[in-house]
Amino acid sequence: MNIRIGNGYDLHRLVSDRRLILGGVEIPYEKGLLGHSDADVLTHAIMDAMLGALALGDIGHYFPPSDPKWAGADSMMLLQQVQELIGAQGWRVNNLDAMVIAEAPKLKPHIKAMRDRLSQAMNLPIDCVSVKATTNEGQDAIGQKEAIAVHAVVLLIK
Ligand code: MG
Repeated sequence: MNIRIGNGYDLHRLVSDRRLILGGVEIPYEKGLLGHSDADVLTHAIMDAMLGALALGDIGHYFPPSDPKWAGADSMMLLQQVQELIGAQGWRVNNLDAMVIAEAPKLKPHIKAMRDRLSQAMNLPIDCVSVKATTNEGQDAIGQKEAIAVHAVVLLIK
């Protein structure tokens, strides 16, 4: 059967003096995610799920943090490259489901914008792009507002 499933996970630390970018959308908040690229943890988890579905390794392999080329990189541009990679093998994303785990800021007002941005970037109908948010009930680093994590699952079809 020409379907493949993949899962992705990522976590970035929340720090001062950084922009908060999730799914290509800048979200107003006093802190942002720390990382070599724009640290878009949502887009990173989605890319890892896409690569995982085809056993192509992880994003660290394609965009190593040690390479200055990717400093401050726009993760939506990296997503484009991952899409081209799977597209070259005849695969495309059918749908994706992502869960963002963040204690703060409240993400509900921004969910639609993230879904819109990802559906445009991935050329997918909006009802094939699910972004959900939850908190960690105050527990661990995420609950202490020190980090944001994302789990993502994608289904690829040929
Ligand atoms: Mg990352």
